Amino acid sequence: MSLKKEFIKICHMVYEKGFVAATDGNLSQRINYNQALITPSGKNKGELNEDDLLVIDLDGNLIEGKGKISTEVKMHLLAYNSRRDINAVVHAHPVYATAFAAAGRDLTDPVFPEVILTLGKVHLCEYGTPSTEELILPIKKFIDKAWALLLQNHGAVTFGVSLKDAYYKMEKLEHAAKTIFIAEQLGGAKKIPPEKVKQLLSIARSTYGIHPNFELEADENIKLPGVNDEPLYNNEVSYSQIIEDRLRARAGNLNVNPFDVKGRNSISNENRSNLSKSEIDEIIKEFNYKKD
Ligand SMILES: [Zn+2]
Repeated sequence: MSLKKEFIKICHMVYEKGFVAATDGNLSQRINYNQALITPSGKNKGELNEDDLLVIDLDGNLIEGKGKISTEVKMHLLAYNSRRDINAVVHAHPVYATAFAAAGRDLTDPVFPEVILTLGKVHLCEYGTPSTEELILPIKKFIDKAWALLLQNHGAVTFGVSLKDAYYKMEKLEHAAKTIFIAEQLGGAKKIPPEKVKQLLSIARSTYGIHPNFELEADENIKLPGVNDEPLYNNEVSYSQIIEDRLRARAGNLNVNPFDVKGRNSISNENRSNLSKSEIDEIIKEFNYKKD
């Protein structure tokens, strides 16, 4: 399936799932180091077709296509220019997640294992007028760590290694918000105890192949992404791991075997040579998509 065809399919899913109403919401996907596909402003996501999609550069200039660039483009550019592991952004107003955001409530309690592993803590960004810099500043506080955020009195945004990944994160966020809302009618959701969260994190990499989006502190308390935390890949990561992750993300599929070498995926992380943080920073610079 072509990139645009796949993109449109996901736009239609966002509408059909009820994650947006009327012409709300916007989606984008990185297509190379400095360009992304993005939805136009003022169009229903369920009625979009390939010709409606726009190509922009990561400074926000229109490169290809007719129509007005989504008014929330700044949120998308912030994500791409801040994080090399983000290849797609979905912004929507799903009812339950948006209800939490409207009530000024975040979704940061550890309630569901799969949410802990894939979304981490879902923080609430304080209200900012849509389409202005005001909306962006609160997101900036969390962008280094978050895969999903609630936007107060507005909606939600998810980031993914591919558009499908960002879409699934939105679906998971909405499902979690809905379930927690219903649990509240039954007396409230119980939190997973810290030692169980720790156990889950300890098997995340080997069992699920997931880089959990949070860290554990020495005292065994759970440290979820926060404002002043180090970004992802702060831990020692091998050179080959970084390259592989990058290639998998580019392929839009974390299960892809980037070198197509038999047995390559079974090499455990411990067998890979570890590099120092400064060496990793050098490599990250090499792989950074943002042009200077
Ligand atoms: Zn919106």
